[in-house]
This record gives sequence, C-alpha cells and structure tokens, in this order.
Amino acid sequence: MALDAHTSASASVASLRDATDPELPLITTTVEKIVQWARRSAIWPAQFGLACCAIEMMAMVASRYDIARFGAEVFRGSPRQSDLMIVAGRLSRKMAPAMRRVYDQMPEPKWVISMGACASIGGVFDNYAIVQGVDQVVPVDVYVPGCPPRPESLIYGIVQLQQKIARSRA
Ligand code: SF4
Repeated sequence: MALDAHTSASASVASLRDATDPELPLITTTVEKIVQWARRSAIWPAQFGLACCAIEMMAMVASRYDIARFGAEVFRGSPRQSDLMIVAGRLSRKMAPAMRRVYDQMPEPKWVISMGACASIGGVFDNYAIVQGVDQVVPVDVYVPGCPPRPESLIYGIVQLQQKIARSRA
C-alpha cells in the first residue's frame, strides 16, 4: 500500500515535470481546424445511384479499391444521416424533383459530386428527357469526368472534396 502511494506520488511529480519541460513540443490548434478535420475524415455518402455510373461507385466501396482508406465508406440509407450526394448517372427530368428532395433532407454542411458525363452535361443523352447537368438542380462541388469514370477517378474526386472541406470555414 505504502509502495502504491509512493509510486503514485512519483508519477504526479514526473507528470508535473513533463508538463513544464521546455523540451516538450507544444501542440496548438483551433476548434475550427478540428471540425474541418473531422468533417473531411468521415464523409458519409447517401445511398443513391441513377444509372451505370453507380456500378463504378459501388466498386469503389468494395475491397479492391476500398474507399474506407479515405474514411468515406459509410453509405447511409437515409439522407438525414448523409453529408455527400454522389450523382452517379443521368438524371431524368421526372427524377429531378425526387433528387432535389433527397438533397434538401440532408443536413448542413453537405456536398455534391457530379459523377460522369451524363450527370455533368447530359452525356450522349442530348434530349428533352434528360437534365443537361445536375448543377441545374443541386449545387455541385466536384465534377468527375468520364463515361463511366473508373473507381480511382471517383476516389480522386473525393480527395479533391476533402481538400475543399479543409480550406472551408467551419
Ligand atoms: S456517363 Fe456513361 S457510364 Fe455514366 S451514366 Fe452516363 S452512359 Fe452510363
């Protein structure tokens, strides 16, 4: 018992000495930086795919590409638990109001990636039924080109978004 008391007293003296040690590195940060780090390190995409691009989006989650390495693998079934919408595929005019509703139900802050030629500019579907760019319906943060973009391209887009979040004000 006496030994325990002595040990704990020595530990407190040691920790006091450590706390005042000028050799120790001083780490400072701000709440804003911690919030930005937390947001960019744990992006939760909405479970939402429109066409063939969605297959590549699903491949990004599987073990070969493993988006978990970038902290964005938790696809949520509810927009209320999501902060990223990946528009993967062509958007029909009929579907546009439903997509906008999903976006509106996502809490702030939230981001949008337009994946593929169809989502960004209508792709080969230059007709009355397809929205010629999803930025007419929701604000887009990152455009990923391709038809379809490979999973690596989408991962690159997510990394670009993370850098954008890091530069933003919390
Ligand atoms: S960009 Fe290509 S792969 Fe993607 S939805 Fe359009 S046609 Fe399909």
